[in-house]
Amino acid sequence: MANFTEHGGISIELEHIFPIIKKWLYSEKEIFLREIVSNACDAVTKLKRLISLGEAKDIVNEPGKIKVILNTDAKTITVTDDGIGMSENELRQYICQIALSGAIDFINKYEGSEDAAASNGIIGHFGLGFYSSFMVSDTVDIITKSYNGEPAVKWSCGDDGQFEITTNYDDYYDLIGERGTAIVMHVNDEGAEFLSEYKLKEVLAKYCAFMPVEIFFENSADNNEETNDSVPVNDPSPLWQKNPSECTEEEYKDFYGKVFHDFKEPLFHIHLKADYPLNFKGILYFPRIRGEFESLEGQVKLYYNQVFVADNIKEVIPEYLLMLKGVLDCPELPLNVSRSYLQNSGYVSKISAHITKKVADKLTSMFNSDRENYESLWRDLKTFVEYGCMRDAKFADRVKGAVLYEKCSGGFVTLEEYLDSAKDKHENKVYYTTDKTAQSKYISMLATEGIEVILLDKIIDTQYINSVEMANEGVKFLRVDSEIAEHLRDDGEIREIEAVAEVFRKVAGENVEIKFDRFKDSSVPAVINVSEESRRIEDLMRLYAMNGMDSSGFKMNDAKSTLTVNTASPLIEKLENKCDSDPDLAAKIAQQIYSLSLLSQRKLDADELLSLIDGSYSILGLL
Ligand code: ADP
Repeated sequence: MANFTEHGGISIELEHIFPIIKKWLYSEKEIFLREIVSNACDAVTKLKRLISLGEAKDIVNEPGKIKVILNTDAKTITVTDDGIGMSENELRQYICQIALSGAIDFINKYEGSEDAAASNGIIGHFGLGFYSSFMVSDTVDIITKSYNGEPAVKWSCGDDGQFEITTNYDDYYDLIGERGTAIVMHVNDEGAEFLSEYKLKEVLAKYCAFMPVEIFFENSADNNEETNDSVPVNDPSPLWQKNPSECTEEEYKDFYGKVFHDFKEPLFHIHLKADYPLNFKGILYFPRIRGEFESLEGQVKLYYNQVFVADNIKEVIPEYLLMLKGVLDCPELPLNVSRSYLQNSGYVSKISAHITKKVADKLTSMFNSDRENYESLWRDLKTFVEYGCMRDAKFADRVKGAVLYEKCSGGFVTLEEYLDSAKDKHENKVYYTTDKTAQSKYISMLATEGIEVILLDKIIDTQYINSVEMANEGVKFLRVDSEIAEHLRDDGEIREIEAVAEVFRKVAGENVEIKFDRFKDSSVPAVINVSEESRRIEDLMRLYAMNGMDSSGFKMNDAKSTLTVNTASPLIEKLENKCDSDPDLAAKIAQQIYSLSLLSQRKLDADELLSLIDGSYSILGLL
């Protein structure tokens, strides 16, 4: 049969669309490779399916190979596959006639938008994937031969939308063999960066690492030493597709290392496998979180049938789970989805809910089955779990039995265990410290009375306990310095000693309220208390200030503090006597007691420290 070449122009709309595609998708040019290679995968998968259905007979060579060939001399990037191929009619139907009206509306709506995800949206959404090749090419050729034996066809199209079809095209064999398709992209100036082995491999690694058909890279330029890699650039059967029961710990760890280039082993993983109607798979890893802020940024990669879509899509994965690392394959999602679609999709919220449930269940089952191990991981998990609980009440509810609190005396308790043991002495009150060293005096006073103090020394903790209090009516978290625990009081009569109040008022200033009480521990003359509520507000303001938010109008150290004087202390008795007989000495002693009580509550500032040191020397000078 003789070759027949026909010239034609693609529909007027397509001519319209070309410049728009080019201009508009500028920021994400690299996805052209994903689109072309994933079409090649589809072509192979389709043929395999026909074979398995018995609908494609006499197929020479099993389909299953894609090549990405770079030729820097010819300035071409060619993608070949040995898949289903296209007959002339199919080519005309699938490539030349595209239902564009929807795409044009879409473009008009979003034109000028900077939203890359939205621009991503027009591509696959309207079957324009193939045309993304024009973002980097001035001419694209398709050489294709159907599996059904029809003659090969060549289609060649410029970026003005004018094409040429050559039927009975003979010169196909070297490129595609018995059947299949080659897409030859004649790269233009805008695509020049892709004419590099390094760049192409980088893009392949990003988007095609787990595509389901083996992809081989070739560098065929004359002036290059020919690279003809014998190993595929991708892993066509990624671990998440396997049955969890068939995967080993080693495989999970290797996969993690390979995908996330993280040499630290993850704490553990969850292999997700949701069947109908959700139908998605994935593996989530809990990375080791060391510093409080250090690695809160995880990476959850979203795939569509093993084709990479994007990292950290907040619309699919609950925000707090973005601290995790992992892969998620959602074949029900269109490959190129706009953010607004995701936000409104019921399917997406179901995925989210499913993942949340699985994560909470995994934590709970680890806690129940091996508490010792779970406790050893807790410090690494804590920030994640607390953040998750604050963000998502359902997660908080599901995981609540497995949330731990670290005791100052060592070991961990659940809230339920703590409240249970507190029942008699301080029902529903949880005592905590934000600084074990600075607040050690308070902790030891409580410890003597058998009251356990928990450690909440992370910035997130104050906000976290707010949410725990909201979820557990009646439960109150109190920092050790916020009030005198009922159990620390002795039964004796409390005397209000005006002279002592006066002398303390002078040294402490008017912002500090002076109160009297009697403690069982008579060695402590006075303690500072800061009301829990006002201190929490102060903490919050400090956090705002740290984040550069406006906290003007709020003075630091506005938190209300009280100096509680212990009338059971012999020292206070002596002070009372001196108030009359030696007011100077009384003032010195009061100053010293006040400084020491501050010192037991927090770090002193420079002036306070100086006054403590000077006061000490002055008292020692009385010897
Ligand atoms: P989509 O893949 O979203 O349908 P494309 O513009 O990428 O849109 O492709 C249009 C059609 O062209 C495909 O649906 C397919 O029928 C055909 N096609 C594209 N690439 C190939 C290929 N490598 N082999 C066979 N058919 C292909």
